[in-house]
Amino acid sequence: MEAWQEQLHNAVRTLEQLRRYINVTEEEERAIKELGRRWQIPPHYASLMDRDDPACPVRRQSVPSLLESVNKYGIPNYLEWKENRLIGEKRPDCIARQYHDRIAFCVTQVCSIYCRHCFRKELTIDDSLSLHLDLEEGFAWIADHPEIRDVLITGGDPFILTDDKIEYIIRRLREISHVEMIRFGTRTLVTLPDRITEKLCRILSGFHSVPIWVNTHFNHPREITEDSARAAYRLTQCGIPVNNQSVLLRGINDDAPTFRKLCQKLLAIRVRPYYLFYCEPAPGLDHFRTPVEKGAELIRDAVRGHTTGMAQPMYVVATNIGKIPISPDYYFVEKNKAEYIFRNYKGEQTTLPNIP
Ligand SMILES: *Cc1c(COP(=O)(O)O)cnc(C)c1O
Ligand code: SF4
Repeated sequence: MEAWQEQLHNAVRTLEQLRRYINVTEEEERAIKELGRRWQIPPHYASLMDRDDPACPVRRQSVPSLLESVNKYGIPNYLEWKENRLIGEKRPDCIARQYHDRIAFCVTQVCSIYCRHCFRKELTIDDSLSLHLDLEEGFAWIADHPEIRDVLITGGDPFILTDDKIEYIIRRLREISHVEMIRFGTRTLVTLPDRITEKLCRILSGFHSVPIWVNTHFNHPREITEDSARAAYRLTQCGIPVNNQSVLLRGINDDAPTFRKLCQKLLAIRVRPYYLFYCEPAPGLDHFRTPVEKGAELIRDAVRGHTTGMAQPMYVVATNIGKIPISPDYYFVEKNKAEYIFRNYKGEQTTLPNIP
């Protein structure tokens, strides 16, 4: 068994195992026993948890909570709505589509960890949605749709698949002449960095006209470790750019110092912040959600102007009609016949001539 497979084999799945890492609270114990939802934490990620603080950002993302049974604001059958599964064109279950030129190709519903804030939780955690995920149906559909130039491989977590399966998926997609790029969405850099093995890197590496990009999912600076830095380095070393997609989580990364540190530390391990997502209204995520404006405020108060523009992700609300970017709205103060008036992150103003 390879080290990453051992990590999965030894993943925390019981109260007894969890007690080796943290002092489990009564609330956490009840959530595990009473909710009966899927959960699993690889030892690497479990070792990042604070033993005594139930508000620890790593702990809150991974240990079940009774609040998951509260659902005041979530949209019922969220994933079917979000991924346009009930309307419009007929597609295999493994294809989610919102855009003309790109799709999400869902290749597994298995993950290394079951993130408590997952917007696909109906599929990954709750089992309230069952999808028939068939790779061959996916390849056939993509081959049949010449407008698809960008395939985003997702799940679940596609890096949970064996090396052979990953190699096969890449090979099949590269055989489709209109596919110009392949993206993998994976949380393994965060939760199971051992997965980024030399063998996997060999499969992903090499100069090719259909490049591979990796998008990962760090939400808190505490998740950035020597091991995840090494995993990111290995990928970039073989020509794979690594980008990050964070989720805005109440009490975890919704304050300016934490969010700035996250963005800066990502660059320090060669990972470029790509998106900050508003926490989606899937059922049972009320306790993670902030007001929509919060993300734009963070961009304003934590990163834009305060640190390099390379550390600034785009803040988006993911919806059934695509991602809606939301910027802080204070930069543009006024436009009149003679000039534009702008404001910067410090509140200073300047003007530029309005040249018609
Ligand atoms: C997010 C998403 C994409 C990719 O969007 P980008 O903005 O290109 O990263 C594609 N398809 C679906 C269904 C998505 O949810
Ligand atoms: S790894 Fe991704 S798909 Fe899996 S539970 Fe976490 S957020 Fe959801």
